[in-house]
Amino acid sequence: SRDNVRSFLRRNLFVLFTVAAVALGVILGFALRPHNLSLREIKYFAFPGELLMRMLQMLVLPLIISSLVTGISSLDSKASGKMGVRAVVYYMVTTLVAVFIGIVIVIIIRPGKGSRDSPVAKTGNIEPVQAADAFLDLIRNMFPPNLVEACFKQVRAHPPFHVIFEDIFQISYYNLHPLLSNLTYLLTNSPRWQLIANKKTVEETVPVSGSSSGVNALGLVVFSICFGLVIGNMKQQGQALRDFFDCLNEAIMRLVAVIIWYAPVGILFLIAGKIVEMKDLAEVGGQLAMYTVSVIVGLLIHGLFILPLLYFLVTRRNPYSFIGGLLQALITALGTSSSSATLPITFRCLEENNHVDKRVTRFVLPVGATINMDGTALYEAVAAIFIAQVNDMDLNFGQILTISITATAASIGAAGIPQAGLVTMVIVLTSVGLPTEDITLIIAVDWFLDRLRTTTNVLGDSLGAGIVEHLSHGELQNQDAEVRNSVIED
Ligand code: ASP
Repeated sequence: SRDNVRSFLRRNLFVLFTVAAVALGVILGFALRPHNLSLREIKYFAFPGELLMRMLQMLVLPLIISSLVTGISSLDSKASGKMGVRAVVYYMVTTLVAVFIGIVIVIIIRPGKGSRDSPVAKTGNIEPVQAADAFLDLIRNMFPPNLVEACFKQVRAHPPFHVIFEDIFQISYYNLHPLLSNLTYLLTNSPRWQLIANKKTVEETVPVSGSSSGVNALGLVVFSICFGLVIGNMKQQGQALRDFFDCLNEAIMRLVAVIIWYAPVGILFLIAGKIVEMKDLAEVGGQLAMYTVSVIVGLLIHGLFILPLLYFLVTRRNPYSFIGGLLQALITALGTSSSSATLPITFRCLEENNHVDKRVTRFVLPVGATINMDGTALYEAVAAIFIAQVNDMDLNFGQILTISITATAASIGAAGIPQAGLVTMVIVLTSVGLPTEDITLIIAVDWFLDRLRTTTNVLGDSLGAGIVEHLSHGELQNQDAEVRNSVIED
């Protein structure tokens, strides 16, 4: 039991470190604000945070591939099929509930009532991107023609998509968060946008808190699932590959165990850097403040009540002690605003602290981090209806339904990288004819909401793993029995 005490202490010491890092980051950030650091100085200051982002991102690709391939190939296809269906049902239900909560709240609070705070310049005639085109992009991304390329970028094939973003950013470049401008460049890969960016000084265009990658995780997930199924069915012949991916996965997780020691330092500087860099809160207008409150209230209701309730109803276990084991992952999500970058930590929390079966986490977590984004879906719905309210546009029931469906699709299509949800919002806005350039209205607070929705996303993925594990108890035990039998036979 001395070992027990020691491991308990070690685990909680870590949580303590991480919480302390957040607190220190906030204090340091506010202490430095009056010094009016230049963007370059902030970038240097936030460097330890940028390093954490890079370390985590470095692990994500091999982790997604190796965990999915081993997770799936270690189950028989019937068991993985059932588990997959359960996971997808959980993702759909919780995402739709999140959207519903968002819609109810934004309709009750009505953050966009009254006249516009700040008029937004209208762009000329831009051909709107059709929701259908965005759906096609989503499906295209599921089938990457080139797996190596999928490790670098996802498709944004539809040309009007570029045009819209360029037009938006030409008008409002100066309001832009540097990270967002960089991200947009990565996503659209547009030379025109690069031209605009190049006109600015280097100092203005370097991202302050780490850069983002446009990895086509969805495509890699689809491929890894299929690959895992195939080598799982290859009996003896597939053993070498199964061992390879299993070993790769184990090695990556050991690297995670090392990086985790550095995480509190990185989180401290990520948060401090962001606070130093953010605009004065006083500049945020009344409508925008109410919009922010609406998103926060929605996320809190979903994350602290609805999801835990669902977990309790299914498993009859205490959801909050489960969430306690996730604290480090949640704080990492808050610090990095990226659910993919958080993925390595999420794995560790679930496996080490909450003892969720590895066959479940390996299968469910990479898929969840890629397609299950409750927080993003909720935010997209709130933002779209807020923009409608600001434009004095009354939405009918059909339009609200359209927003729910497209917000769900936009959350599935959003990559788990910072502010990806802001980019996929175009789908939601165009589907009901709202002006896409009004995205600029909400950019000022997006860095903050992004962190909160990412935390909700990670929470949803993790509770989902717990729920799927509980429901798949029977299959997992059968599988164990089979493995024992085959060992005896050998
Ligand atoms: N940053 C979010 C995530 O990684 C995605 C989003 O922008 O909503 O989960």
